[in-house]
Amino acid sequence: MLLKKIVIAVDGYSSCGKSTLAKDLASVLAYIYIDSGAMYRAVTLYFINNKVKFHDKDELQNALNNISIEFKNSIDGKCSTYLNGKDVEAEIRQMEVSSKVSEVAAISEVRRKLVQEQRKMGAEKGIVMDGRDIGTVVFPNAEIKLFLTADEDIRVDRRFDELKSKGEEITRDEVKENLKHRDYIDSTREDSPLMKAKDAITLNNSKLDRKEQLNEALKIIKTYVHQ
Ligand code: C5P
Repeated sequence: MLLKKIVIAVDGYSSCGKSTLAKDLASVLAYIYIDSGAMYRAVTLYFINNKVKFHDKDELQNALNNISIEFKNSIDGKCSTYLNGKDVEAEIRQMEVSSKVSEVAAISEVRRKLVQEQRKMGAEKGIVMDGRDIGTVVFPNAEIKLFLTADEDIRVDRRFDELKSKGEEITRDEVKENLKHRDYIDSTREDSPLMKAKDAITLNNSKLDRKEQLNEALKIIKTYVHQ
């Protein structure tokens, strides 16, 4: 469909279906998919496991120097997040990480390291990356910028069902609180707050299923191709 390789940025609030759309787009276009949130989650997991006191600048820098994050196919063929050579895909999705990740993602040193790595991953283009600052900070020149939204109740239901299906012991209220908490910190932090890029196109998927959402995004991309 696309002759020239481009960068597609997918941003939005928590649990808007960004990763589902980004994965589907990458699969249709034969592009690389990068989940930037998984990188912030992996750093958070490292801080938790190693009891890093990240308010201490030396300790923070030392920890960041010891963190290496990769995306590789795991034994079951699915793409997993690896932290220092270990598959941490399941661990980084747990509530303990979710409840601390936004605090960690607000630290400028953490963002500097991860943004640099994300830009390297996208240097050759042909990439779909989802997150909070992809269209505003990581790839301000991305050819396509999508900003996903969905009604709060729908987002809560989606995340609750996802966590339940993974066997996490959690209530719907806890999920709701976590989403609100993360959205608040993510959109009010000083460094790279979550916001819609001026040239991003909003896609509200509250009433769309997975296929419809993909088709809407492909329509937007086709408009760009025919410009
Ligand atoms: O996308 P996901 O919900 O897994 O992201 C987890 C957290 O990582 C977000 O709530 C946000 O605090 C942080 N994040 C970020 N910038 C990104 C991606 C994620 O600050 N580009």
